[in-house]
Amino acid sequence: MIIPVRRFAVTCALGTLGVALAACGAPGTPHAARPGHPASASAAPSRPPTLAPGPAGLTPVFKNGPRTPDKTVALTFDADMTADQGARAAAGEHFDNPKLIATLRGFKVPATVFMTGRWADEYPEEARDIGQDPQFEVANHSYSHYAFKDDCYGLPTMPEDKMRADVERAYAAFKKAGVPHAMPYFRFPGGCYDRTALRALSAVGVTAVQWDVVSGDAFATDADAVARQVLEGVRPGSVVVMHCTRSAAPATEKALRTIIPELREQGYRFVKVSELIGRAAGRHR
Ligand SMILES: [Zn+2]
Repeated sequence: MIIPVRRFAVTCALGTLGVALAACGAPGTPHAARPGHPASASAAPSRPPTLAPGPAGLTPVFKNGPRTPDKTVALTFDADMTADQGARAAAGEHFDNPKLIATLRGFKVPATVFMTGRWADEYPEEARDIGQDPQFEVANHSYSHYAFKDDCYGLPTMPEDKMRADVERAYAAFKKAGVPHAMPYFRFPGGCYDRTALRALSAVGVTAVQWDVVSGDAFATDADAVARQVLEGVRPGSVVVMHCTRSAAPATEKALRTIIPELREQGYRFVKVSELIGRAAGRHR
């Protein structure tokens, strides 16, 4: 199956018999609360941590990690590409940003990339390269980058009955590109959602991931301003939203070269979103 939750469910069922199945759990099953047990930074979990579903089984929403004294921060990068932007890419517009990925590698900064399926179709080698590097994790930013709610920054709106299929189509695109373990995390295009959208995705088993720090990097040309905004906003457990598309976020790579050393100087450790979610969910492994 193409989506992680199903893969986990199958793995789980195959590996268990009888009553043991009950302990195996389904995707999105509430995790036992074990506050105070930090997750390992480098462990590759067989099943990524997710938050328990919200009221009425709605898709849970994650915004930031615990505000604990140890300073962790997750840099996240949206790989935007709208379904109808293929012609622009063919005409030479760059929706990718290999230099930014190289900079993260140079600094050895783990990061989470929220990738659209359309982007993976356009840049399969880069998608695979990111997806196979343990320094990064690939999460889902929809296939089409249409909004999952009306009135969202001018994005076309995804009909409710197409939402689930669009998210699953993105996972299929990642698999086709060679991304081995896309995470069960979903970022709404534009960050726009409502109860209808959370309900529409509840069967997919993803945790929706928002942010608490807006970098302001979209269409920004002043790298210093982006860096300043991030540095002023970050607190322990923060999730920073940025973009890894050259055309829509031309200053981001340069801003990182200020942000990363400065946050390290302040004692911050960079982590992937999965680590923050694992800690928020109270898992330890
Ligand atoms: Zn986006």
